[in-house]
Amino acid sequence: MKVLHVTGEVAPYSKTGGLGDVLGELPPAQRALGIEARVVTPLYGFIDRGRLRRGRTLAEVHLGGRALGGRLWHDDDRHITFVDLPGLLDRPHNYGGPGGEYADNPLRFGAFCKVAAGMADEADVFHLHDWQAGLVAMYLGGRRPVVLTVHNLAYQGLCGFEWADRLGVPRALRTYEGVEYYGRVSLLKAGLVLADRLTTVSPTYAAEIQKEPGGMGLAGLFRHRRRGLDGIINGIDTDDWNPAGDPALPAAFTADDLGGRAACAAALRAELKLDAGPIFGVISRAAGQKGLDLLVSAAPRAIAAGARFAVLASGEPSIMQGLSEVAAQHPGAFTVVDRFDLDLARRIYGGADFITVPSRYEPCGLTQLIGMRYGSIPVVRRTGGLADTVVDGETGLCFDEASAEALNGAIDRALSLDDDARAAMQARCMAQDWSWAGPAAAYRDIYRRFGGLEAKP
Ligand code: ADP
Repeated sequence: MKVLHVTGEVAPYSKTGGLGDVLGELPPAQRALGIEARVVTPLYGFIDRGRLRRGRTLAEVHLGGRALGGRLWHDDDRHITFVDLPGLLDRPHNYGGPGGEYADNPLRFGAFCKVAAGMADEADVFHLHDWQAGLVAMYLGGRRPVVLTVHNLAYQGLCGFEWADRLGVPRALRTYEGVEYYGRVSLLKAGLVLADRLTTVSPTYAAEIQKEPGGMGLAGLFRHRRRGLDGIINGIDTDDWNPAGDPALPAAFTADDLGGRAACAAALRAELKLDAGPIFGVISRAAGQKGLDLLVSAAPRAIAAGARFAVLASGEPSIMQGLSEVAAQHPGAFTVVDRFDLDLARRIYGGADFITVPSRYEPCGLTQLIGMRYGSIPVVRRTGGLADTVVDGETGLCFDEASAEALNGAIDRALSLDDDARAAMQARCMAQDWSWAGPAAAYRDIYRRFGGLEAKP
């Protein structure tokens, strides 16, 4: 069975969030099951092509009245094909810089999708991810079965209706039953209405998107398609995310021998200049979804109760501003690092006592899974994948209401755990299996429902 994943980001090349992690980790887990899983993704300007193999020149892509030329590049070890469309995809950011999204993203990703759809001969099944890949379903025109996974419904690839012509959207699809979304064009919706099966990244999120406000205006569509809609929780690469051999950590540790963890905590405390007290780690994009405003409001009371915060976040300036103000008022208790830093993230996972995820909504969430693997206990809002992966009082502490009071309540409960209770909870967290084996098999079962696509023995 040959599966071609189409994505706007893939770790370690172009990750901006959990989507990139998933595309870096799911395909190798599928290959371990005998599936020929490959990834096709844009060659952005910041990707070093020196390490890639130069592939074939592309046939001209006709789109938006332009004839676009390009070529393919390959990472053969990772089974990744990069689409190089000079002038379009080779920008310094995936989707846009601090000034906002690139205005020609519909053309950029439309052209990318057209190239990907042109690879139909190399795939039995297309597996599309989020809005960046939605148009593949349209350009394929039914030539291959399509699975579309929604990783985050907040990002729909919306653009003005003038794009319908430029992207070659057939008349019949220019309605609310097609790509139209409240007078605009939704690239995601092209995939949602044309894919054979839909999945999302947790069962609770699959239920939440069938109602408003979780459905973000598309709840009716998801209700209509609920029989072909599965929720599959993401895994993590447990070889990569492994405190027993993580080169970013100052000391190694395992569930059986936690000795090195104290050294990780001490180093993190020194690095981030935090006073004594339990450390609550936060590793997050700074976006409204993530509930960091709740953290800002809850922090003074939590700090007075003894909590210390190690916050690694980057994104929207207004959110970062709020976090910086708390940090300025509470030196030694609340440290904010404003950047995307994969190694510091690892040091926080390995050195914090708790990992705090106060999301307003969370399709799956990876930080709580990685946190558990590294022995930092999740403190999470009970929504989406957080509700499916953290058991209150067993493997973490949950709160329901999206309010600072509710977050403070969960932090207070975390602070009140005695050493034995905390150690027992940490041990249960570290004993969880969040590897990709389960989810990879679940996706295989979905592909198999297309029939005639058995994995070769
Ligand atoms: P989302 O995809 O919505 O950003 P997830 O929890 O699914 O959220 O995935 C977040 C991933 O990105 C995790 O691997 C997390 O460690 C990482 N991450 C988020 N923010 C940062 C940051 N500022 N620096 C380093 N890694 C980050």
